Amino acid sequence: MTTVLEAVLETHGMRCACESACGHHEGKPCKRNHYERPLLAAPYPPRATDAANAAVPVEDLRPLCAPCWRAAVKAAQDRAAEERRRVLEAAQLDLFDPAAVAAG
Ligand SMILES: [Zn+2]
Ligand SMILES: [Zn+2]
Repeated sequence: MTTVLEAVLETHGMRCACESACGHHEGKPCKRNHYERPLLAAPYPPRATDAANAAVPVEDLRPLCAPCWRAAVKAAQDRAAEERRRVLEAAQLDLFDPAAVAAG
């Protein structure tokens, strides 16, 4: 019986598969590997919510080191928050646009 982590390590290798979604090693592969410190089986790139991350199928999991995972999740959450803010702002612009109001 193999665990999810073992299956992911077998498929993707024993090193962190982060491609700098964490922003910590721009353009270079992460150097951490499973021998120094156990990696996590995590969705990559990470989704913005725990629920979405938990729903990712095993095929989409990659071995990631904890620092990369935490930083990459944070980046995904920041992007999602920024996107929500933009959508809200756009909605408010429509709301207060006199032309849109005049047009009904
Ligand atoms: Zn890493
Ligand atoms: Zn990384």
